[in-house]
Amino acid sequence: MSATIVMKFGGTSVADAEHIQSAARRIVHKREEGYSVVAVLSARGKTTDELIAMAEEVSADPDPREMDMLLSTGERIACALCAMAIHDLGHRAISLTGSQAGIVTDESHTKALIVDVRADRIRAALEKDNIVLVAGFQGVSSAGRDVTTLGRGGSDTSAVAVAAALDAQVCEIYTDVLGVFTADPRIVPDARKLETVSFEEVLEMAASGAGVLQLRSVEYARNHGVRIHCRSSFDEQPGTVVEAEGDTMEQPLITAVTHSRSESRITLIGVPDAPGAAARIFEALAGANVNVDMIVQNEPASAGGLAEISFTVPREDLRVARAALEPLAGEAFAELHAHEEMGKVSIVGAGMRSHPGVAAKVFGVLAGEGVNIDMISTSPIKISCVIDR
Ligand code: ADP
Ligand code: ASP
Ligand code: MG
Repeated sequence: MSATIVMKFGGTSVADAEHIQSAARRIVHKREEGYSVVAVLSARGKTTDELIAMAEEVSADPDPREMDMLLSTGERIACALCAMAIHDLGHRAISLTGSQAGIVTDESHTKALIVDVRADRIRAALEKDNIVLVAGFQGVSSAGRDVTTLGRGGSDTSAVAVAAALDAQVCEIYTDVLGVFTADPRIVPDARKLETVSFEEVLEMAASGAGVLQLRSVEYARNHGVRIHCRSSFDEQPGTVVEAEGDTMEQPLITAVTHSRSESRITLIGVPDAPGAAARIFEALAGANVNVDMIVQNEPASAGGLAEISFTVPREDLRVARAALEPLAGEAFAELHAHEEMGKVSIVGAGMRSHPGVAAKVFGVLAGEGVNIDMISTSPIKISCVIDR
């Protein structure tokens, strides 16, 4: 069989009939170049946001299983429509749900992890000369056989997982910008497109808010050796290729500045200064599947004193985090304070590993702008500051 290419189209790239037809033309063009083509599509435009709003209209705390039934429909619509548009261009095409495509996940509704891709149905359809459209963002749970979704932005991960299972030559992520930039190009007009970026840098970028690639898709690609090419669906020029570590010959000190506006901070006051105190708190959060990002704890200043622990969670996890911690109040901590509206600004660069003084410079720049820093965390290639949203 000919070499396989996976093409993923994001929400803006399939937002309306014209965009779907244009994506269909791009897919067909690739097929006519001789490739076997699998296209993974997101839901059209703001469909996922609208579906979430619909759920919130009928329930204050929508059931996660039913939420996944609801959310998975958005990508199915896009795929069926695109298959129709491809038929009109004279090609064979078939759309598949995540489940039909063999994307098997764990049981964690709305944040499921892919555990297996049983791609035989995709392969069979490709062998019959079909272009295969796979609904992104969804799978089927291995034990419960329920529809699951993979978390916001999850179609990127669907695409990478399908590319890995098919040993595809490349996973092309078609989006509404030209590639991965040095900062969000919608906010920083003079940001530059990166021709290549290393896995380790783009992982840190994704983890710190650069929404252009879902974090898990980058992790999956690194673990399975998938080549990612992130590019525009509105422009022919090459985008950004994610390279294996060490391929980048010259590393600039700073590769990107990223930001996030969707952080919340929780501060626990009166935490016993004893072994196991932090473990209890974070075990409760892990048990509720809350992603904790930055954690800061100081040793109590006075003898016999109580400690304070602050940490950040994605704002969408705040409600669940509070509910998970409430039963521990009075024992594991005395008081819980939540700051819902936090932001985070980070710099990422493999080159800073070997350069002292970068942190001081970052703090100096923020001070010069009158920005107060709430929390700081660093890794060898990233400095993050939590600030007011
Ligand atoms: P899609 O619907 O195609 O998946 P997303 O909205 O998820 O698109 O991701 C693309 C958006 O990511 C861009 O419109 C851009 O505003 C944003 N973005 C944030 N940081 C970056 C960055 N460093 N480089 C490129 N885009 C970025
Ligand atoms: N439609 C889903 C979302 O909006 C998944 C995706 O677009 O990747 O998050
Ligand atoms: Mg996306």
